[in-house]
Amino acid sequence: MRNVFNFSAGPAMLPAEVLQQVQKELLDWRGIGASIMEISHRSQDFIDVAQTAENDLREILDIPVYYKVLFCQGGARAQFAAVPMNLLKNKDLSVDYINSGYWSYHAANEAKKYCNPHIVDVTTVVNDLYKIQPMRDWSLSDDSFYIHYCPNETIEGLSIDEDPNFKTSIVIGDFSSTLLSRPLNISKFGIIYAAAQKNIGLSGLTVVIVREDLLGSYCREVPSILNYQLLANNKSMFNTPPTFSWYIAGLVFKWLKKRGGLVVMNKHNKNKASLLYSTIDKSGFYFNNISPENRSLMNVPFRLINSKLEDMFLKEALDAGLYALKGHRLVGGIRASLYNAMPLKGVQTLVEFMNWFSDKYG
Ligand SMILES: *Cc1c(COP(=O)(O)O)cnc(C)c1O
Repeated sequence: MRNVFNFSAGPAMLPAEVLQQVQKELLDWRGIGASIMEISHRSQDFIDVAQTAENDLREILDIPVYYKVLFCQGGARAQFAAVPMNLLKNKDLSVDYINSGYWSYHAANEAKKYCNPHIVDVTTVVNDLYKIQPMRDWSLSDDSFYIHYCPNETIEGLSIDEDPNFKTSIVIGDFSSTLLSRPLNISKFGIIYAAAQKNIGLSGLTVVIVREDLLGSYCREVPSILNYQLLANNKSMFNTPPTFSWYIAGLVFKWLKKRGGLVVMNKHNKNKASLLYSTIDKSGFYFNNISPENRSLMNVPFRLINSKLEDMFLKEALDAGLYALKGHRLVGGIRASLYNAMPLKGVQTLVEFMNWFSDKYG
C-alpha cells in the first residue's frame, strides 16, 4: 500500500483500485498474452474497450443521444484552437470569451489566431475576496455566435457553478478540472471538453462532447486530427488514438459507476472541500481569498498569513506524506487538489497536519 496522499493538480492521482487492476492485468490482458498497450486499436479487443468506455461515460454523465463523444489528443490546449476552427466557417462571426483566470484567458488568446474574440472580464474583488459576476451581468455581445468559458479555474481555484442560459445555444466549456466531479446538464452546452489528466485518467487524452448539429461548420484549414466531423465519422480512430489512456479512462468510469455515480461523488467532493475550507477559515493562520460561492471543490489554493513559513510548510508536509501541495508557479502559496480519487482520509490527514503546523508555528 502507498502511504502518501497526492494533491497534484494534474497529472493527478488515480483511484488505488484502478492502479491495482492495471497492475494485475498489465502483462497479460484478458489472457491474450500481451498487454493492452501492445495491441492494435483496430482489433476487436480494443474496440470493445473503447466502446465500453464511451457507453459508461454516456451513462455517468447522462449524455443525450444527439451528442457525439470524441476521444481526442493534444490536451485541452489543442481544443483552444480546435473549437474556433470547428465552428467558424465564417471567421467574422462574433464570439465571446469569458476571462475568469489563467486557463480561460489562454483559451481566448489562442482563439485570436482564428477569429476576433470579444473578451469579457468577469472577476471582481469584493471585501478583498475574488468573486465571479453572476452570468446575467456578463457583458456579452448582442450577436454572439458562441460563448466560451471555464467553469473551474484550476490555478486560481475559482469555480462557476451556474447553469448557462444565454441567447445563443452554443455554449462551450473547458471542463478539464471539473468534469465528473458533479452532475452536469449537458444539454445546456454546445461543446464540453476536458483534458483527462485531472479527473478522468492519464494525460494524452481529451474528452470532447459535441452537439451533432455543430459538426460540419469547420473552417477549411482545420487539421484533420482536430476535425470533429472527421473524428466522429471515424469513431475517434482517424489516426492511432492514445490507447492506454483510453483504457485507463474506461477503468475510471467503471470505478465511478461502482462508487454510485456523480450524485454520490458530488457529496463526497463537497464533504472533502468543506472540511478543508472550514479549517482554513477558522485558523487565523491560513487564508483563501475566494468568495464562498466561487470556491472550487477541486482545487483549493491557500496561503499562510506569514508567507515566510510556506517553504517550511511544504517541506514538513512532504515529510508527513502529503505530496505536491506547492501552489502553481504563477501564484505561489499552497494548492490542494481534491479530485474524485482523493479519499476523505487524505483531506483529514492534511487538516490534522495543518492544525499541528499552526499550533507549532502560530
Ligand atoms: C490542465 C488544464 C488545461 C491544460 O490542459 P493540457 O492537457 O495541458 O493542454 C486547460 N484548461 C484547464 C481548465 C485545465 O485545468
